[in-house]
Amino acid sequence: MLLELENVSLLYGRIQALHGISLTVDEGEVVALIGANGAGKSTTMRAISGIRPVSAGRIRFAGQDITKLRADLRVVRGISQSPEGRGIFPGMSVQENLDMGAYTRRDKAAIAGDLERVFDLFPRLLERRKQPGGTLSGGEQQMLAVGRALMSRPKLLLLDEPSMGLAPMLIQQIFSIITEINQQGTTVLLVEQNAQQALSRAHRAYVLETGRIVKSGTGQELLHDASVKEAYLGVA
Ligand code: ATP
Repeated sequence: MLLELENVSLLYGRIQALHGISLTVDEGEVVALIGANGAGKSTTMRAISGIRPVSAGRIRFAGQDITKLRADLRVVRGISQSPEGRGIFPGMSVQENLDMGAYTRRDKAAIAGDLERVFDLFPRLLERRKQPGGTLSGGEQQMLAVGRALMSRPKLLLLDEPSMGLAPMLIQQIFSIITEINQQGTTVLLVEQNAQQALSRAHRAYVLETGRIVKSGTGQELLHDASVKEAYLGVA
């Protein structure tokens, strides 16, 4: 097991956003987290990346307890997040943004190889590598955020709403790339509003409702689950 959350709770002041969440991600999997607005999907990601401290429960990664580990040290351990809303550096060039992704690494040759891999996955970023990140289109910024997360060579890639705001054709493309990244050996935990795509691509998935996991199963099981269909797939 690569990642394990055990009864994780998280508070924003007096607001309890997560109520004892337990989930696992195995090495090599794509796991999706689906749920309505405000269900706690992004909060779960923040707990895993260490951006917000948990108030109870335990997080284990690669066999070690990381519940209290600083966020930057989680990156060094192999957890990398491509945040919702993209979060790229608008004043820096595409190339500089990608370099930032590798800031915890010292292995220059391997970094160069990974940069090549990112440009193979996203040829558009290669064309625009000298352009300021802030001048990219929404879809391109999304690619840059994913590319930057990959530059830390993560064991676990956390993707928060990678399809957000993208045109349908680009949504297909970004999901294909996620599958490709996974096939190249990266484990992926994916938060998505686009439940149809996420469940079709994921090995397994969890459904979050008001800070609790209410259902889990393989992507295919959930795609055919009556209540999931009704609530998240727009099919009665
Ligand atoms: P969305 O898809 O709308 O982003 P989500 O499932 O990712 O939803 P979260 O962003 O995790 O949901 O929010 C879970 C709950 O925590 C919501 O009720 C939200 O209002 C609350 N919340 C999130 N961030 C904060 C914050 N910084 N301070 C206070 N409450 C917060």
